[in-house]
Amino acid sequence: MKVYNTLSGKKEEFTPIEEGKVRMYVCGPTVYNLIHIGNARPMIVFDTVRRYMEHRGYEVNYVSNFTDVDDKIIKKANEEGTDPSVISERYIAECKKDMDSLHVKPATTHPKATCEIGGMIEMIQTLIDKGHAYVAEDGTVYFKTRSFSGYGKLSHKNLDDLRSGGRSLLVSGEEQKQDPLDFVLWKPKKEGEPFWESPWCQGRPGWHIECSVMSKKYLGDEIDIHAGGEDLIFPHHENEIAQSEAANGKQFAKYWMHNGFLNIDNKKMSKSLGNFFTVRDIGEKYDLQVLRFFMLSAHYRSPLNFSAELMEAAKNGLERIITCVSNLNFLLEKAGTEKMSVEEEKLLGQAAAYEKKFDEAMDDDFNTADAISAIFELVKFANTNADENSGAAFVRALKEKITGLADICGLVVERSEEILDSEIESLIAQRQEARKEKDFKRADEIRDILAGKGIILEDTREGVKWKRA
Ligand code: AMP
Ligand code: ZN
Repeated sequence: MKVYNTLSGKKEEFTPIEEGKVRMYVCGPTVYNLIHIGNARPMIVFDTVRRYMEHRGYEVNYVSNFTDVDDKIIKKANEEGTDPSVISERYIAECKKDMDSLHVKPATTHPKATCEIGGMIEMIQTLIDKGHAYVAEDGTVYFKTRSFSGYGKLSHKNLDDLRSGGRSLLVSGEEQKQDPLDFVLWKPKKEGEPFWESPWCQGRPGWHIECSVMSKKYLGDEIDIHAGGEDLIFPHHENEIAQSEAANGKQFAKYWMHNGFLNIDNKKMSKSLGNFFTVRDIGEKYDLQVLRFFMLSAHYRSPLNFSAELMEAAKNGLERIITCVSNLNFLLEKAGTEKMSVEEEKLLGQAAAYEKKFDEAMDDDFNTADAISAIFELVKFANTNADENSGAAFVRALKEKITGLADICGLVVERSEEILDSEIESLIAQRQEARKEKDFKRADEIRDILAGKGIILEDTREGVKWKRA
């Protein structure tokens, strides 16, 4: 399995630190609003990486944080006249609902920054003790960037080039840093802000330290994969490396993976530019599986432009797979003998080539675009080779191949179970009730709902009878 590593700028063979296990950390969202579909890209992409690793037999320990203390959360809380924790808890709950609709599996652990302050104070103290950090007069603790010789290795930036662009590194409130390259580990509280006690001042942590600490706590000093959107390479991930490696004295992450941006009109979709759609906006128009399918139809490192046309194409593509599985289910109901014929066994051998193609595409730095093409080829193969004369075992095996590959991509391509008898009876009773009330509009509506599910009603003298079409 090959993975593109931002650190080396090359595709590398994937070998985990511990055999059969993968320790993976994905930077999660700052929770002050509903997530937009740009934020959904890393969630979908790295969930698919995780699913594929699991398919290949790895046990994946997947950690993804929620940043629940931040200027934007505090601002929103002040606007609503409430506590920042009310805002962050609300949007964590909403984010989890969106993840669920996108079939993003819950992480093994979803730590929250505010629950890990003790660990952050500990790591900051270690950095001070080792001479990598210092306390300014106002109580701010800064990381001494030049004290870490590997600084710049991820973003391939050179300290002196960064220094010459130093003006942009001067942030208001950070006048006491010794060098413009230094960054904040701990900052003093401001009026009306949440704060924690610390040896340096009452205050709160800088953003970068939270990931270093949560990664260490839940995955250990050395992890296999650290991931996020490409905007995080610098400074966030560069700073995480500096903090973790300076404090722990070990290589932090072996592989660094970054997804490209989701763009709109070729500009990054972001809250600050205001050019975004929330996952909820898209959910009003589409089954959110379509959004997942759309995201996976491009390589995760490429930029992806969002458009109505591409979403329609994704909808049609996904529908093609769903229809094929539906047809196979239909054939399965009618199919005769269980045993597979020699001819069918041969065909199934050919079908296995598409599974191999799928795995090869995924082994090549998770090329989901090619992997999905392999699913389409398998669908075409099933449409051509399965018919009323096929045996049940053959049809079932084809169906399981398609649903199995789709499942690795987090796609459910088998329509939900047929409507149950009890649901039909209940709807018929409601229709009778509506007729008694002379609400014929509702009665017709219920007849249509049932017809849509293939249930035909017959009004007889003994009452309503029904049958499946
Ligand atoms: P944020 O809440 O801005 O910290 O973002 C959470 C995650 O979403 C990070 O991994 C970002 O890199 C990622 N992200 C934000 N906007 C986009 C975008 N337009 N396309 C792809 N990833 C994004
Ligand atoms: Zn992070």
